[in-house]
Amino acid sequence: MRCPYCGSLDTQVKDSRPTDDSSSIRRRRICPDCGGRFTTFERVQLRELTVLKRSGRRVPFDRDKLQQSVDVALRKRSVDPERVERMINGIVRQLESMSDGEVPSETVGELVMEGLKGLDDVAYVRFASVYKNFREARDFEEILGKLAEGETEDELPPPPKKKRAPSES
Ligand SMILES: [Zn+2]
Repeated sequence: MRCPYCGSLDTQVKDSRPTDDSSSIRRRRICPDCGGRFTTFERVQLRELTVLKRSGRRVPFDRDKLQQSVDVALRKRSVDPERVERMINGIVRQLESMSDGEVPSETVGELVMEGLKGLDDVAYVRFASVYKNFREARDFEEILGKLAEGETEDELPPPPKKKRAPSES
């Protein structure tokens, strides 16, 4: 597994154990080149999922992207990564059990909101406030972008503004 910090291919597994619900194997890894530490999860993938966007476009479901948006919503909140992992596993299981493996992007957003509600109130409000503004016409990726824009804020994403005001001289 390539080191996310320095790109070295020679990383080592230090510890390997199942998550509490035994749905994943969590591995702690270390990079001998830069000393970087990171964690990977091994999981079952039952079936390929396709997300149907509002535009009518179909794209492969991307768990990493989902994880990324959840991580952004949870930024600076102290939530055990394993609980987050379980929540995302739960979302993926639900998606996998739906219909024929094709899920509307709105369904993904709704499930994330539900999941965050049970995990962390602030993260839920962050995600929901952005999601609800965008649900009519936009894609999940735009929610992600919008959440990332608010990254310097400690609390809620800022209200929509026309454009960034230049600082007074
Ligand atoms: Zn490294």
